[in-house]
Amino acid sequence: RQAAYAAMRDLEPVSRDGQRLTLLMNAGLRDDMALLKMTGADGIGLFRTEFQFLVSATLPARERQTRLYRDVLESAGSKPVVFRTVDIGGDKVLPYLRHNDGESEENPAMGWRALRVALEREGLLKSQARSLIEAAAGRVLNVMFPMVSEVWEFDAAKEVFEAQLAYLRRQKKVLPEAIRYGAMLEVPALAEVLDQLVPKLSFLSIGTNDLTQFLFAADRAHPKLAERYDWLSPAILRFLKRVIRDVDTYREGRQVDVTICGEMGGRRLEALALIGLGMSRLSITPAAVGPVKALIRSIDVGEIRDVMREWLACPPPDMRAALLDYANARGI
Ligand code: PEP
Ligand code: MG
Repeated sequence: RQAAYAAMRDLEPVSRDGQRLTLLMNAGLRDDMALLKMTGADGIGLFRTEFQFLVSATLPARERQTRLYRDVLESAGSKPVVFRTVDIGGDKVLPYLRHNDGESEENPAMGWRALRVALEREGLLKSQARSLIEAAAGRVLNVMFPMVSEVWEFDAAKEVFEAQLAYLRRQKKVLPEAIRYGAMLEVPALAEVLDQLVPKLSFLSIGTNDLTQFLFAADRAHPKLAERYDWLSPAILRFLKRVIRDVDTYREGRQVDVTICGEMGGRRLEALALIGLGMSRLSITPAAVGPVKALIRSIDVGEIRDVMREWLACPPPDMRAALLDYANARGI
């Protein structure tokens, strides 16, 4: 595997027809940062800040959070890092934080988790905001909120950051050069209000793990359902296509990046389909960076976009088989 990483590390994700795509990696621990250099990824598209909380025996003090974020930014150098605020709850339970007031939940994935917890436990979000802003002094801070379901939740979370920023400004602290705010699209309802959300965003990141679970009403951790619904089904692909189109419609001439950060983007045929939908930014598990880079270097983006346009209008009976044939016929 080391050799495979090394061979691809210094090559760019440029397609045969000359399109430079953006290939980022997902991370969550300090140790993951070594993989940024090993893989040659363009940056960290998703830093899961809850990992520090999950591996701690107690709630991490603000100074510890700041140190981690500073270390992460330093090891990223000039490459961008997108920090996601804590996604606690659901399957990620903290023994030391009774986030749910001891209530048992019938459906934890759809329960008291992520931004829902963070907006109620404001101390948690405040301390994260302060830590992130301090750690990013003199740099651009990219922050995104998980499980945004309605636009006001994005506004409220941003407001917590802006209040901390104002406080640190009054303290005459060195501030970030800019804060770029983004939302994760993992709850289907958010896709229906992109006209209201997109004008407020610097970027949108699509979490296909949760999104698929909610689109198909199929628990992402259920062993019997793991293979049942395909990421390459027309329902998902059409949904994603519509999101890309709507972001473009409502971005009002500004740049609003759209990135896929779920596991889907790290798989060969799925990455091919996503690029065919018009997606040009993927944030994937580090082990997939080399293989997906190799894939990008072997495809013609213009051609797969034309093919996917036809296939979405009139889906082949088996989209996976059709994509596999397409890939095999071209030695992809
Ligand atoms: C997702 O839901 O696709 C995602 C990237 O977030 P997580 O897997 O951490 O829930
Ligand atoms: Mg998620």
